[in-house]
Amino acid sequence: MTAAPVVARTRDELATARAALTGGDTAVVMTMGALHEGHARLIRTARERAEHVIVTIFLNPLQFGPKEDLSRYPRTFDSDLAICTREGVDLVFAPTPDVIYPDGDPGVRISAGPLGDVLEGQSRPGHFDGMLTVVGKLMHLTGGDLFYYGQKDAQQLLLIRRMARDIDFPASVVAVPTVREEDGLALSSRNMYLSDSDRQTALSLSRALQAGAARAEEGPSAIRRAAREVLIEEPLALVDYLVLVHPTTLDHVPEWYKGEALLAVAAKVGTTRLIDNTPVLVGPGGGAREVFSDSPEAAPRG
Ligand code: AMP
Repeated sequence: MTAAPVVARTRDELATARAALTGGDTAVVMTMGALHEGHARLIRTARERAEHVIVTIFLNPLQFGPKEDLSRYPRTFDSDLAICTREGVDLVFAPTPDVIYPDGDPGVRISAGPLGDVLEGQSRPGHFDGMLTVVGKLMHLTGGDLFYYGQKDAQQLLLIRRMARDIDFPASVVAVPTVREEDGLALSSRNMYLSDSDRQTALSLSRALQAGAARAEEGPSAIRRAAREVLIEEPLALVDYLVLVHPTTLDHVPEWYKGEALLAVAAKVGTTRLIDNTPVLVGPGGGAREVFSDSPEAAPRG
């Protein structure tokens, strides 16, 4: 049996446990808890590469809007710890908000800039500033060498990469493909909110992405049309956006475009807002991809 990870709740406990992780690289997987196989895949991918793995479990109030689901977000620490134990995690950092924000609301925040105002940012003002602020803090506090993020949250991943480049965080950011149920539904902690019929409705998101990617050789409008047709068939999914955008600028790709693009969707199903996406190669030989090929540290398939 693998040993349970050390659990650190305070900055001092983290510093002491971190100092014991000597020799070799330390990888960090940041989560909000309610761990599932998507998180486990990140941990496993990190394990393959790094000597030590730290998982952070922190429900960051800064990235939730006043009308969002912070208070009802699932909290499942015991089963999270069991998954971390099973996956051979060395250290779990699970602080409370007062540990991360000892002076209360931080006056200084990291700004996501214009890329934080579109797509998810349009529906969730301030979300990405709050996310980057805590990611920056956790990068410093954990002192990791490698940081693993899921393609599932494509805009988050892009912004974390940009932060590392634009303000010179000495951090390697690694993308991990989206883990799905057999029927295509992307795993998410928020899937716990879905009723059986919501879950059926939610399948239209991944089906739309698949249908779009299947038309990748024909170009952007064929991709968008095929994806839209699937969503129109499912009126119970209240679509916020369905876009085909450039992977780094998030601009809508023009009809002549060939190359990699992000096909992304967000919709409300029942009371739950869901997001999903797929990288797509547009043009000859095109189709769905697991992660973008230009990811400097794209994780291998597995
Ligand atoms: P969260 O706990 O939802 O903030 O997610 C923590 C990390 O797990 C983020 O890097 C997510 O992108 C990643 N993640 C969440 N769901 C999945 C999934 N289905 N497949 C791969 N990674 C995921």
